[in-house]
Amino acid sequence: MSDEDVQLEARLEEQEVFEPPESFVEQANVTDEGIYDEFEENWPECWEGAADLLDWEEEYDQVLDDSNPPFYEWFTDGTLNASANCLDRHLDERGDEAAIEWVGEPVEEDNITYTYEELHQKVNEFAAGLREMGVGEDDVVTMYMPMIPQLPIAMLACARIGAPHSVVFAGFSADALATRMNSADSEYLVTCDGYYRRGDPLNHLDKANEGLSGVDHEVERAIVAERLMDGDGFDHDYADNQVAFEDVIDDNEGETVEPVDRDAEDMLFLMYTSGTTGKPKGVKHSTGGYLAWAAWTSQAVLDIKPEDTYFCSADIGWITGHSYIVYGPLALGTTTMMYEGTPDYPDKDRLWDIVEEYEADQLYTAPTAIRAFMKWGKQYPEQHDLSSLRLLGTVGEPINPRAWKWYYKHIGNEECPVVDTWWQTETGGMMITTLPGVKDMKPGSAGPPLPGNDVRIVDTEGEEVEPGRAGYLTVDKPWPGMLRTLYKNDERFISEYWAEYSDTDSDDSDDWVYFPEDGAKIDDDGYITVLGRVDDVINVSGHRLGTMEIESAIVGVEGVAEAAVVGGDHDIKGEAVYAYVITEDGYDEDEELRSAIIDGVEDAIGPIARPEAVIFTPELPKTRSGKIMRRLLEDIANGEELGDTSTLRNPDVVSDIETKVQGD
Ligand code: ATP
Ligand code: MG
Repeated sequence: MSDEDVQLEARLEEQEVFEPPESFVEQANVTDEGIYDEFEENWPECWEGAADLLDWEEEYDQVLDDSNPPFYEWFTDGTLNASANCLDRHLDERGDEAAIEWVGEPVEEDNITYTYEELHQKVNEFAAGLREMGVGEDDVVTMYMPMIPQLPIAMLACARIGAPHSVVFAGFSADALATRMNSADSEYLVTCDGYYRRGDPLNHLDKANEGLSGVDHEVERAIVAERLMDGDGFDHDYADNQVAFEDVIDDNEGETVEPVDRDAEDMLFLMYTSGTTGKPKGVKHSTGGYLAWAAWTSQAVLDIKPEDTYFCSADIGWITGHSYIVYGPLALGTTTMMYEGTPDYPDKDRLWDIVEEYEADQLYTAPTAIRAFMKWGKQYPEQHDLSSLRLLGTVGEPINPRAWKWYYKHIGNEECPVVDTWWQTETGGMMITTLPGVKDMKPGSAGPPLPGNDVRIVDTEGEEVEPGRAGYLTVDKPWPGMLRTLYKNDERFISEYWAEYSDTDSDDSDDWVYFPEDGAKIDDDGYITVLGRVDDVINVSGHRLGTMEIESAIVGVEGVAEAAVVGGDHDIKGEAVYAYVITEDGYDEDEELRSAIIDGVEDAIGPIARPEAVIFTPELPKTRSGKIMRRLLEDIANGEELGDTSTLRNPDVVSDIETKVQGD
């Protein structure tokens, strides 16, 4: 590092509060701090503004009907269509502007731009095709597809005819597909022949077919998008009930379908959570409240404007892609990007290459990606002009201050606010984060709850804990984007999310509290640091330590790229801290680093958190959505038989780590 770099790093390392950059504030969608008080005083009517971002067919009567908690209803008796809101209403002014910029794996030259006009047309044609096949209102259509344009086309076509979609991440197994289709009684599937990963063709239809054979009711139709190019295919024979996506489009060329009027509370889609904690839950989202929430948060937090080119690098198979690639951005009439590939192919500057080429205004990604960028080094972003960027965002897990600052400095050039957004599949959209044009940022803390959101950090009795103390995150008031129930399982909906802190016999909405099952702490300014799932808490000699806090201390040590901490059984302490550590490129896995890590934890938290063992590993076991599977690391620490590894992105790494621990 040059002297200048060293000074800069030292300054950044010490800085704990960052003001929103002035150039950003000058043009931000939300700049009035008064919004917090205003929303609190005017709750729930404050959410009329979110509903106003949409076009309604029939005006709603009531903002919130809370007469039957926790089955809240928003914008009651209003009707609208999500596809019309994302497409039709933009045609006059933005018909020739790009709706979707699709960037494919670099196996062919042509990326695809869909203008609003073109996207509208495809969606209509596909909607007509679905109808013809017999898809009716409220029939659940399952989609098992990677990041190809046919996916949002199919989603919006479903929305147009009032058929809820259920998107299953393409990386999931055949079994996962079957389980979800069975659970949703879904008789229709949209899938694809295959796709490209790192330039190689990958067979997807065989996996889809295997899944279909595990569906226990009749499947009416499977529609197959053909992504692979001539010569890369796998000689698939289509079954009698299978048809090519393009044929459906061609057969319906020029057709239009009137958008179906949907009740605000009608289901827009189902999304099964990844299931890292037990049996998959079919989270049900509404049409009106969900879309209003996705649009409002996209505008207020991501600062999206119609003329922007907005880039979220998530997969549409996750809720992030639903809310912040498809519905939120398109509802606002902006240009949303879709990237098919991985960030390190053909080289580790792939995302920066895309940002530069498309002059992206925002980038929304995950801490796991940011830590990888950091590990690869700043020379990759430095090869590109990233000055088009105006705002950066992260979601998915806590981001440690070091990674936050790296992102802020090396991607944002200290000119872009970073929004660290806490939310879940269940919340439909963002809940806790700074309003980027209003609030100071504190790396490592997501920020205050969004205006109108009543978030509290409580102890096991439901009493608010003092600032600085770890507790449980709760949401005390309903919000428009919230899940409505777990599909066909109201009982589990209550037991899973409400029972813990609510008086479940009460009809009074005030007695109902939503529990997202995350731990957190709050500071004197009301900023919330999310500590992770409540099962990610270690009990050392009676002290409850959040794994996140310890991990954050470890990745603060120079030379550490990433860390995962779990509790292993200990005769005296009950549990002891086991730390799995990935080193940054160019650093040795040696005793010196080991003691630096141990000292780092002692300094930051105290001797009580001192790791019993520091295990260096080249990778950590992660779910497909990039979350560390601590449960498996715990099994390894305890020398127990390993639990289910089927939802892992990198199952092989587990046995490697096991060998290492046993050898140590
Ligand atoms: P499952 O519930 O099936 O186990 P999951 O919780 O991983 O899956 P998601 O809904 O995608 O599925 O993830 C939401 C969770 O991710 C939150 O509950 C929280 O633990 C974590 N999370 C998301 N964003 C943040 C953030 N900005 N800071 C801290 N944690 C976050
Ligand atoms: Mg969850």
